[in-house]
Amino acid sequence: MSFMQSLSLLNIAPTLAEFFGIPLNTRVRPIERILKFMYARNPQVVVLIVIDSLDFQVYLDFTDELEVLHELVKQDGLLFECETVSSHTTPAIASILTGLRPESHKIRTSEDVGKSKINSILEILDDAGKPTAAVLETDGTKPLLGRVSYVFSVDDREDIVEYDALIKTHTISVLNHQREVRFVFSHLRAIDRFAHRNGDLRVAAKITNENMKAIAKAVGERNGMMFICGDHEAHLKEREASHGKMTVPLIVCCP
Ligand SMILES: [Zn+2]
Repeated sequence: MSFMQSLSLLNIAPTLAEFFGIPLNTRVRPIERILKFMYARNPQVVVLIVIDSLDFQVYLDFTDELEVLHELVKQDGLLFECETVSSHTTPAIASILTGLRPESHKIRTSEDVGKSKINSILEILDDAGKPTAAVLETDGTKPLLGRVSYVFSVDDREDIVEYDALIKTHTISVLNHQREVRFVFSHLRAIDRFAHRNGDLRVAAKITNENMKAIAKAVGERNGMMFICGDHEAHLKEREASHGKMTVPLIVCCP
């Protein structure tokens, strides 16, 4: 099953909140097609993976390299084209996790994350007795320490391949060992780093594909569901002239 419908990244958190039956302070509506899909499959755990700089054009341009993503859509997955809400990582991820626009959550830097009084679905779910886990860069995890059940911090580093490998390893580890966890959030960054440094995006896409393949296998073994999305458009030199609407893919699937 596969179809497209234009939505925004803001719709993700309300959809998850509705499924888990938790309150979320946003007027944005859940995505009904996804809710139906979730209720029909009743996943034991939901894993949200944000692939940094995976925009819709990158998704289409690297079909061969990102083969596992396309395969997950083909095998009974859902594909949506979502409008972005920011061209920067931190505000975009804050919007994905809160359902609020950057003007509302006012989270622009990692420091703002620490000061913000707005709870994301990670904290709200955990407070509601549905344990959650976050796997991301050390600065981004600081505000979550003591607020969610499992926090895996990965220090930023020059070797982004090693960085993403650690994100993958922690994500799989929490799926294998913490059976009570209902929601996991992870953030892969290789495509973004390669895009910023004018590296070969095919290489970054292949690395991301291998990590996603391993994570999908672990999610499948837990009868889980994946939400996979980008955060903003890729910052590529050849794209700077374009002024089109920026969109990223959102894939929902049961590997
Ligand atoms: Zn980003």
